[in-house]
Amino acid sequence: MAKTSLQKARARAFKLQNGCCFYCGQRMNQSPITKCTAEHLQARSEGGGVVGNIVAACWYCNNHRHRSRIPMVPEAWQVYVGRKVQQKRWPTLT
Ligand SMILES: [Zn+2]
Repeated sequence: MAKTSLQKARARAFKLQNGCCFYCGQRMNQSPITKCTAEHLQARSEGGGVVGNIVAACWYCNNHRHRSRIPMVPEAWQVYVGRKVQQKRWPTLT
């Protein structure tokens, strides 16, 4: 089966980020919570496309951002998670 452009963009982002999550900076792998997901910096519903709009984030960070009713924008979420990681209040995923 041919890869979709989204899968290609995710693979490209994964490489660019050296396999580390855009938010928590931890290395992604194949486990259910650390697997690499494609995160849209601008939501598709807001007209965000694929090119230049995809970063690789681990499932945990991606999933938690979308848990709030009004998810934080990616930039804010990155700062938030980064702070939690520094405080060691973000799970170690590896
Ligand atoms: Zn992460």
